[in-house]
Amino acid sequence: MEIITKIKQMQAKSDKLRKQGKRIGFVPTMGALHKGHLSLIRQASSENDVVIVSIFVNPIQFVSGEDYHTYPRDFQRDEKLAKKAGVNIIFYPVVEEMYPQELLTFVNVGRLNEGLCGKFRPGHFQGVATVVAKLFNIVKPHRTYFGQKDYQQAMIIKRMIEDLNFDLELVIMPIVRDKNGLALSSRNTYLSKKETKAALVLSKSLQVAKELLDSGERRSEKIISRMNDLIQAERLAEVQYLEIVACQTLEPVEIVEKEVLIALAVIIGKTRLIDNMLWE
Ligand code: AMP
Repeated sequence: MEIITKIKQMQAKSDKLRKQGKRIGFVPTMGALHKGHLSLIRQASSENDVVIVSIFVNPIQFVSGEDYHTYPRDFQRDEKLAKKAGVNIIFYPVVEEMYPQELLTFVNVGRLNEGLCGKFRPGHFQGVATVVAKLFNIVKPHRTYFGQKDYQQAMIIKRMIEDLNFDLELVIMPIVRDKNGLALSSRNTYLSKKETKAALVLSKSLQVAKELLDSGERRSEKIISRMNDLIQAERLAEVQYLEIVACQTLEPVEIVEKEVLIALAVIIGKTRLIDNMLWE
């Protein structure tokens, strides 16, 4: 496994691989790798000749007051996990390499930014779309892998690829959970034992929504209210948002008629967690 820290070197390497006819699979991450990341890496490994993972805690996607400085960073651990999972190259730039001068060009994916997490993290998705566009130009992948865990992010990247004609394929992978149902996240490391237990209300409330939908309930308001009741009963949890939206537009849906996304953000102690479920 090779570690590349310079943009020019990464681009030259990808050009060379492409000339050799190799298919490049790319998994962008912020590190602190867990089984969710590893499922993306394994899929990339099964569908491509070369797997490149980027590890970069991107300052421009953190809103002021968020956890940029305390975000978990452990490159040595990540390196071991990546190697074991079949990664060929880690692209690991420092902030000055990615942002050597004041950035004047940003990617904004219009309306898709506005709802769900976008409402509570202004500027976040602009930071994500911008860094991902830069990474696509640096890594030059044939395929890129994103997790459904960050559904709004995946839809924004999908739309950016379409609108800006990036010549690559996007693969969205299902949410990986622990044995109790908690969606894996690098931020789960912030949780105390008690909070980890409390955090199960996210997946439990999605389960309640699924049961209601499966039994014929179609009114979003009713479903959301039942989810809310469950979360409010958990002392350590505070709902940030709880929404049922159309899968492509991310616009709220009042009556569920076709495939929808049920998405929520909940603050457990000081940690903001998200989860979602697609229902058809
Ligand atoms: P992050 O390092 O948090 O930026 O995540 C990098 C990629 O891994 C993103 O595409 C995430 O959606 C994906 N990811 C994070 N957690 C999970 C999970 N539990 N299951 C599947 N994919 C995930």
